[in-house]
Amino acid sequence: MSGRTIVGYRYGRDEALYCSSCIRDLFVPYELVGQAAWTAEDILDHIAADLGLDRQDERVSSYHFPQPLQRADLMSHESCDLCGQRLTAA
Ligand SMILES: [Zn+2]
Repeated sequence: MSGRTIVGYRYGRDEALYCSSCIRDLFVPYELVGQAAWTAEDILDHIAADLGLDRQDERVSSYHFPQPLQRADLMSHESCDLCGQRLTAA
């Protein structure tokens, strides 16, 4: 397992933690609701492009746009603030 696997996202004023599934549900736009094959990353890339946001830009903070978290970014036993799923799964 790679330490670069995205295990969740940090997002919003409270810096809440979200699993990929919840961030996908929060951000999936109407025109893509039926696109089950799209991952959270696909969706976020799509939305960032629509907004003219560069996700690699360090000025784009988790306050404004979900920031992917890798295993190495997490403390142990952190979980999604929405559904409670542990964020250690690949
Ligand atoms: Zn969740």
